Amino acid sequence: MRAKFKKHRLEFKRPSGTSRGVLTTKDSWFLIIEENGKTGLGECSLIEGLSPDNHLEIESLLQTICAALESKTKLPELTQWPAVQMGLESALLGIQNNNQWELFPSEFTRSEAHIPINGLVWMGKPDYMKTQINSLLDRGFDCIKLKIGALDFKQELEVLHYLRKQYDSTTISIRVDANGAFAAEDALDKLQQLERFAIHSIEQPIGVNQWEEMADLCKRSPVPIALDEELISRTDNDERKRMLELIQPQFIILKPSLLGGFKASKEWISHADSLGIDWWVTSALESNVGLNAIAQWTYSLNAKGPQGLGTGSLFTNNIQSPLVITKACLSIDNSISWDLI
Ligand SMILES: [Mg+2]
Repeated sequence: MRAKFKKHRLEFKRPSGTSRGVLTTKDSWFLIIEENGKTGLGECSLIEGLSPDNHLEIESLLQTICAALESKTKLPELTQWPAVQMGLESALLGIQNNNQWELFPSEFTRSEAHIPINGLVWMGKPDYMKTQINSLLDRGFDCIKLKIGALDFKQELEVLHYLRKQYDSTTISIRVDANGAFAAEDALDKLQQLERFAIHSIEQPIGVNQWEEMADLCKRSPVPIALDEELISRTDNDERKRMLELIQPQFIILKPSLLGGFKASKEWISHADSLGIDWWVTSALESNVGLNAIAQWTYSLNAKGPQGLGTGSLFTNNIQSPLVITKACLSIDNSISWDLI
């Protein structure tokens, strides 16, 4: 086996406001392996300030992994490296399937099926958010996700009002994501103010590691709650289960690059299923390489409802791919070829 890696710095078209501040670039590393004429490719996608993977040490780890793959010796322990786990798992699946682009063969990879997705509205001034909403509605999205918690709360309610006065909840489903921005003391009050907009769900209303407070909110909130950041760095399988049993969220969000790839995300799903907790899958600023892997996996799960996949062509230097978004659905158009990596 031969193995190498290549860094790719993705440049945002427009500086993107996230809960980690404003991003202008983000780094990914492609792991490329070859064996008996077969190639595997995986993306290790890091978001600075959010990914548990260590930005400064990733290249030396990838060197160790490549050496271990080539010499067929034991791979290093990767529990603290979810993005690397995801890249390695994807690359090995490519070899296994004899196709670096088709990791989970299905109707989706054969261009015979699509995945419904939500449209994402980035944080910003109310006018900018409204412009994004209009563009998503024009493009046929019927599930809109808004990042909240950055502006003045009144202004955010005004943006929600703007959307709701045009479309009721039977036409447009609204998801919001607070990225932990609310204080535990007034979170319930804010959730009660959100109730009148018939919100489908709110991601991470309060910050992580406040299990008792989060459990209480999940019991009392009029808006169903989805855990997102709360799952990150939770590597012990018993602890994962204990947390879900205690908090009893209505949903969990699965981001394979942040949770340790597909196997680890599957473990979360089995806990969630056993407790009657629903879930959906979300990409996390990967290039099209990682998005392709996550989308194929998502389809293979028979995931319900709109998924958080490929929410906009955000980068100026993404990898050209056959992934296309039409009428709020992600699909593969096999007449378009992939860029060489
Ligand atoms: Mg989120």
